[in-house]
Amino acid sequence: MPSLNDIRSTYLDYFKGNGHAVVDSSSLVPRNDPTLMFTNAGMVQFKNVFTGVEKRDYSRATSSQKCVRAGGKHNDLDNVGYTARHHTFFEMLGNFSFGDYFKEEAIPFAWDLLTKEFGIDKDKLLVTVYHTDDEAANIWKKYAGLSDDRIIRIPTDDNFWSMGATGPCGPCTEIFYDHGDHIWGGPPGSPEEDGDRFIEIWNIVFMQFEQQENGDRLNLPKPSIDTGMGLERIAALLQGSHDNYDTDLFKTLIEASASVTGQAPYGDKNVHHRVIADHLRSTSFLIAEGVMPSNEGRGYVLRRIMRRAMRHAHLLGAKDPVMHQLVPALVSQMGGAYPELSQGQAMIEETLKLEEQRFRQTLDRGLKLLDNEILGLAEGEDLSGESAFKLYDTYGFPLDLTQDALREKGRSVAIEGFEKAMENQKTMARAAWSGSGETADAAIWFELADAHGSTEFLGYETEVAEGQI
Ligand code: ATP
Ligand code: MG
Ligand code: MG
Ligand code: MG
Repeated sequence: MPSLNDIRSTYLDYFKGNGHAVVDSSSLVPRNDPTLMFTNAGMVQFKNVFTGVEKRDYSRATSSQKCVRAGGKHNDLDNVGYTARHHTFFEMLGNFSFGDYFKEEAIPFAWDLLTKEFGIDKDKLLVTVYHTDDEAANIWKKYAGLSDDRIIRIPTDDNFWSMGATGPCGPCTEIFYDHGDHIWGGPPGSPEEDGDRFIEIWNIVFMQFEQQENGDRLNLPKPSIDTGMGLERIAALLQGSHDNYDTDLFKTLIEASASVTGQAPYGDKNVHHRVIADHLRSTSFLIAEGVMPSNEGRGYVLRRIMRRAMRHAHLLGAKDPVMHQLVPALVSQMGGAYPELSQGQAMIEETLKLEEQRFRQTLDRGLKLLDNEILGLAEGEDLSGESAFKLYDTYGFPLDLTQDALREKGRSVAIEGFEKAMENQKTMARAAWSGSGETADAAIWFELADAHGSTEFLGYETEVAEGQI
């Protein structure tokens, strides 16, 4: 059975053999796009090459790109622990053509890799195309021999990609694998498509238009190709499962989590271990790049992921910080492909340990408060915004962590109440501060306080000052 590391190499070698330059993954913190929180696709590092602003000495490239989808436009944080196919951190395998080959070659490249190189059963594969893209549909029919009922025409934006309001755009085709009717889910375009039976493995974008500001769409003189295939998804498939968390890499991480918590990864414990394994990867890779937990921006997304994992460790009965103890297992699996992990190992462990020590000071009391509140709720009643705010403000529970905890019990947060409480807090702090008469300073302070997420920051510092670290 090929390992994740084998599959990554096979992919890159295959495209290298077909004239593609093998390009390293770019960083998770995008260097060329201040509007993007994290790199979330293989094409991000090539954006300027696609638009022609930047020239490279190759017109075909392939990569395995580190991606994080937590926060921002693509946010899969809430899917982790609930679907078999989503991670917050994953690797996206991709092949790219910068005005070089187009549909006639991109589809056969993908089909041959899947069916010949990887030996996947053709009868289990089906594809979607954008509803007007007859060209792609015909290639699938002619080259792959797919029958019409396995070429699903999708009229929505799911199959039409664009870089932004203007710029390159075009239809996509997605390749799905049918894992069988013992798993819940329906084909793309059906009401049950979000199940895990039909899993999207590969997305191929045909960049063929240029969207103009006035609404016109011009044909690009040299159309391009951008593709993305989730390494963990193709690995699951090639290892005989529909579930990414059953792959060799995740098994190792889940075993490590089971070993440090002393809880076997079965039954209702399983989900905790899955979340921990997933969040271990995203947090470790982010810290390796120098992102630190904080109360704003990227650092706050990191903190949210870390604390979610720490709550799950707590639910497994962990009495001491555990996340940092899992780092060696991750480094042993991925340090070869990503040396920054091995190089950053000490810093990753230290950062995880410190954050878990801090959060544990309030986590237990916060969870008890939350449990009590839930007990007091009437049938179908939401947790009040004030309670969620108290958990945030006093106990350091990010809102999404509270929501995650409630979701397990079929409850949610009254969001408006939470936002109101947050607003009130800010107003009160402002009123108190303006009494000092230093209006100019106050303005600066509030700008900083807003940027730093204010209240949680203060509560958190107070906890630290109590001196348990
Ligand atoms: P899905 O519909 O399953 O959420 P997507 O259409 O959002 O996937 P794309 O944006 O097309 O995904 O990304 C390209 C490929 O990357 C997907 O076909 C899939 O194999 C993989 N992928 C996307 N999101 C994730 C994720 N959160 N975890 C693991 N793999 C992912
Ligand atoms: Mg998605
Ligand atoms: Mg999709
Ligand atoms: Mg897709």
